[in-house]
Amino acid sequence: MRRVNSILLFILFQPAYCLAGTAAYELYLQGDLSKAASAYLIQAAEAPEQPKPLQNAAMCLRQAGKYREAGGALVEALKRDAYNPDLYSELGWLKFHLADYDGASAAFESAIKIQELHARAELGLASVYSNLGEKEKTLLHLEKFRRLRPDFSGVDYILAWNYMNFKMYKEAEEALIEALRKDPSFTEARLPLAGIYARQGKFNEAWNQYFRVLDYAPRHPLASSMMKVLEGRLTKQPEEIRPPFRIAKPLKMEPVDAVKKLLKSVKLRVGIGTNSAGKQGKNNLLRVKSFEGMTVTGKASGKLFATVPPDELWFALYEGGAVVLKDPNGKIYGRFTGPILLTPNQPNGTVIFDASSKIKNPWFSGADRQYRGVIELAPGSRGIRVVNVIEGELYLLGVVPSEVAPQWPYESLKAQAVIARTQILIRRARGGTHKKDGYHICDGQHCQAYKGKSNEANTTSSAVMDTEGEILTYHGRPAYTFYHSNCGGSIQASKEVTGWGDSPYLVTKSDTQPDKPLSPLDPWDFHLWLTGNPMANCNYPGRVRASEFRWMKIIKHKDMTFRINRDYPIGELLDIIPLRRGPSGNVNSIKLVGKKKSVTVSREHLIRNLLGFSSLKSTLFEIEINRFKNGKVRNYWIYGGGWGHAIGMCQSGAAGLAGKYDLKYREILEFYFPGTDIRRIKYQQKDKK
Ligand SMILES: [Zn+2]
Ligand SMILES: [Zn+2]
Repeated sequence: MRRVNSILLFILFQPAYCLAGTAAYELYLQGDLSKAASAYLIQAAEAPEQPKPLQNAAMCLRQAGKYREAGGALVEALKRDAYNPDLYSELGWLKFHLADYDGASAAFESAIKIQELHARAELGLASVYSNLGEKEKTLLHLEKFRRLRPDFSGVDYILAWNYMNFKMYKEAEEALIEALRKDPSFTEARLPLAGIYARQGKFNEAWNQYFRVLDYAPRHPLASSMMKVLEGRLTKQPEEIRPPFRIAKPLKMEPVDAVKKLLKSVKLRVGIGTNSAGKQGKNNLLRVKSFEGMTVTGKASGKLFATVPPDELWFALYEGGAVVLKDPNGKIYGRFTGPILLTPNQPNGTVIFDASSKIKNPWFSGADRQYRGVIELAPGSRGIRVVNVIEGELYLLGVVPSEVAPQWPYESLKAQAVIARTQILIRRARGGTHKKDGYHICDGQHCQAYKGKSNEANTTSSAVMDTEGEILTYHGRPAYTFYHSNCGGSIQASKEVTGWGDSPYLVTKSDTQPDKPLSPLDPWDFHLWLTGNPMANCNYPGRVRASEFRWMKIIKHKDMTFRINRDYPIGELLDIIPLRRGPSGNVNSIKLVGKKKSVTVSREHLIRNLLGFSSLKSTLFEIEINRFKNGKVRNYWIYGGGWGHAIGMCQSGAAGLAGKYDLKYREILEFYFPGTDIRRIKYQQKDKK
C-alpha cells in the first residue's frame, strides 16, 4: 500500500513540479520576486532531494534585497548537496555583503577546498580581507583571481581600488593603466588615475585624464571642476598635452577610387558633430579648407560667393544669427542667414575641418575632420549647423569602419555594410527623429557612427562595394536593422523593451553557434553565467575586448545617491531592485528605494544612465549591495555583460560567426534577423565625363 502511494505521489507531482518551475521563473522575469521565491520554495518542499529550487529561491531573495533569507535558502541547499563549490561561494558573497566576514571567509575557504581554482571564491576572499584592511592576504587572493580571469578588466580595477586603500599609489597607478588598456571607457578607473597624477604634481597628465573622462561622460561634475582647478597649473598648452589628430595631404591618389566604381546613389543629409542625443553641437567657429580647392555657393540662389584655392584655410564664424565667411586675410565674403554649400572642385575631393581649441564643439576641436560630398553650413539656434550632403554609398564608406574594426573577418564587415545601408532607408523614409534638426541621420551612436573620409579603410570600403545596393527586407519593405556592439551572450527581442515596437524578426535568442535554445533558464544559472566567462559568438578573445563581454563596477554609496538624485529627488538611496527582465536577462525596469520616496524606471537608456557617472554598458546586469555591520550601504557591485541594447545584430557576435565558424554574410544576417531577405536597390550609372 505504502509503495503504491509513493508511486502515485511521484506521478501526481511530476507535472506539477515542472509547471511550478516554469511559473516561478516567469514570476522572476516579471519582477515579482517574493512570489517567485515562494514558488521555488514550494518546489523545494515537493522535491526534497533537489537543491536547485533552493538555489533559485536564494537568487530571487537576493535580488529583492533579502540577503539573510537568501543565505538561509543556500544553507538548506548545502544540506542537499554538500559538494557544490558554487553554493559555498555564493553563500560567502551573501555573508560578505552583510559584513559577516568570519562566515564569508569560511564559506569561500570551503568552496576552494572542493575546487582549488575557483575564481569567484578567490575574489570573495580578497574582498573580505580588503574590507578588514589586511593588505597581504587581499593582494594574495586578488593575484590568484587575476590568474583565473586574466582578460577581465574588473580584476585590475579591484586591485587598484585596494592599492589606493592601502595607500600604495605606485601600484595603484600601474593597475589602473592596465584596467584602462583593457577597457578605455572605464571612467571609474580614469578618475582615480587622474587623482594620483594630481597628487604627484603631474598636472598635465591629470588634466589629460579628466579630459578623457569627458569623452565618455560629458559634463561629469568632478572631471569638469578638476579641469578648471588644474588649468592654472599646467606647464603646457592644452593642445600640446593632447595634440589634435591632423590630416595630411596624401602624396598620391588612393589605390581604389570608390567614387568612380560605385554607381550613383540617393543623396543623404547627415548631421555632423552631433551630441549623444543626435543634436548639433555648439559650432561658434569652423576652419575649412580643401586639398582640391572648393566653391562657396548659395543653396537657394545657386549664386557663387567665393572660390577657395587648394589648401587655403578659410573661416566660418557664427555671429548674430548669421554665418560669416572670411578668407585668410580676414576679408568678409558674406553674412549668410540661409544655407551655403562648400563643394570641392573634384568629384572625389573633400572638405576638411581644421581642428582648433577655439571651437566649442569637441568634435571639431579635438581632431581634423574630412568629408566627401558637399558640406552645407547654415545658422542654427546655437551655432553653425553642419550637414554633409552625400550619396548613400559614399557615406557608407565612412560608416562601416566607424562602427566595426576594419581588421575583423571580412564577412562580418559585409553584414555591417548591408544593415548600415538599410538604416539609411529607414531613417530617410521616416524623416522622423531628425526632421526638425534639418538632416536625415546624425553621425553619432544615436543613429550610426560616421567619422567621414579620414576613417575609411580598404577592407571596409571593399565590403561596401561588394554589397553595393544590398539591403535587408521583410515582406518587401526595409527591415529595422538594429544592431549593437556586444550582446553579452543573448539577443533581446524588441518587444521586451519599452518603445522599441514588436518586429517578428527582432527576437530573443542565444548568441551561440550552432544556434541553440536560449539558456540559462533559471535565476541561479543566470547568475553563474553572468559572473562567469561562458561561450558565446561575441566572447571572441583577440578580436573583441573581453571588457565588452563581461564587466563590473563598484560604485560608492555617496556617488550613487548623488547621481540618482540629480534625476530623481528620492533622498538617500536605500535599495536598488531590478524588477522585470526579458528572457535574455536584460533588466527592463528597476526600482530605486529612497528615504523620501521610491521610483520605478523602465526606459532602457534611463536605466543605463542612472547607475553611475558614465552610463552602464548595457542593461544585462545584476547588482549586489555591500553593507556595513550597522546595515548602512557601503557600495554597489554591478556585474554586467555586453555593450548596447542587445536588439538585432550583435556586431562582436557577427565577427565571431564569420571568424570562428566561417559563416557568410547572408548566413550572419539570417542568424540575427530570421525570416528577412536581401534585396538590391537599383542605382543609376554615373554620368560619363
Ligand atoms: Zn540620430
Ligand atoms: Zn553577442
